[in-house]
Amino acid sequence: MSSPQDGRAQRPASHGDDVSVRVHPAIASLVPYAPGKPLEEVEREFGIRGAVKLASNENPLGPSPKALDALQDAVDTLHLYPDGGAHVLTRALAERWTLPTSHIVVGNGSDEIISLLVKTFVTPGDEAVMADQTFVMYKLAVTAGQGVCVEVPLHGWRHDLPAMAAAVTSRTRLIFVCNPNNPTGTMVTREEVRAFMDVVPEDVIVVFDEAYAEYVRDPHYPDSVAYVRYQRPAVVLRTFSKLYGLAGLRIGYGITTPEIAGYLHRVRNPFNTGTLAQRAACAALGDAGHVAASRTLNETEMAAMETGLRRLGFAPLPSQANFLYFDVRRDGRAVFDRLLRAGVIVRHIHGSMLRVTIGRPEENRRFLEALTDVIGTMPATGA
Ligand SMILES: *Cc1c(COP(=O)(O)O)cnc(C)c1O
Repeated sequence: MSSPQDGRAQRPASHGDDVSVRVHPAIASLVPYAPGKPLEEVEREFGIRGAVKLASNENPLGPSPKALDALQDAVDTLHLYPDGGAHVLTRALAERWTLPTSHIVVGNGSDEIISLLVKTFVTPGDEAVMADQTFVMYKLAVTAGQGVCVEVPLHGWRHDLPAMAAAVTSRTRLIFVCNPNNPTGTMVTREEVRAFMDVVPEDVIVVFDEAYAEYVRDPHYPDSVAYVRYQRPAVVLRTFSKLYGLAGLRIGYGITTPEIAGYLHRVRNPFNTGTLAQRAACAALGDAGHVAASRTLNETEMAAMETGLRRLGFAPLPSQANFLYFDVRRDGRAVFDRLLRAGVIVRHIHGSMLRVTIGRPEENRRFLEALTDVIGTMPATGA
């Protein structure tokens, strides 16, 4: 729309002004990702203080102190372009996974790797198989790329790998296996993945999104990097946004075959990750103490949150991640809004389903208290 100030006010309104006619229908159909409100915004809007954010699965302990030191050291170099090849971080990651560096692609969050995969391998009309309740980025990226999302219903709240394999057609380019799955927190096992990989055609790229792998306690968690070692076209996504506590810096990576990595490197922006992100990620990777403390806090507090929710009559799904998913048996949007007013930000997924991140003990107590108040005045619907 033209406004009196923009110098084009004299131009008569015409179709020529309307960019929507030039937007691809696949793009026009997208709904912008709705991020959780930032803490400051919630506090300002509702006139409260000390709001807690348990909405985006961030590490409640914050970044590693070693990462913060690395950031301090790096600020003097910010007039220089970053190392576009992220050499030091790539070497550290290659060592961590005992693979040559040619297997690693660093991205602006693992979100970027998802976009790069779609840009590289999905041409209009190609299909990508994913669960019907999973991380929204897959659908966003595939739809924007004019691909077709084949959404396979969860089975018992977990990925239905046999049904996902059966959904593969000659147009399938990517299969997304989010493990543990966001928002359910559930996991598929090594045996299940092995059976799945046995039947998926060798030319379909399987993407294992393991954003929460560092939190997993189940010994049956798959070693998906093994498929990369055996030269299967697979991509394992890892991130520094969750347990490593660096969500604000935007850095993640993919582990894949040198061939796939080579294509992703051609498609990515030459300076896709910044100096601060690279340096902090290296330091965080080397801080085993912070990793252990973060895992331990999550384990203890997850147990406390599960107990608290059960006492309130809820049945959170068994979670291998740092969040719980549960049916609040009321209008989920209304419960979400009432919690927000009480200064507790959670995630409303759909219907009566809420997802809450495991925070520090006092944050979790605050959530449970607020939830107790809210449901006390709202009768449960259904049975
Ligand atoms: C949070 C999350 C990511 C990480 O995204 P980044 O871009 O690395 O911050 C990836 N996949 C899933 C399933 C997630 O929940």
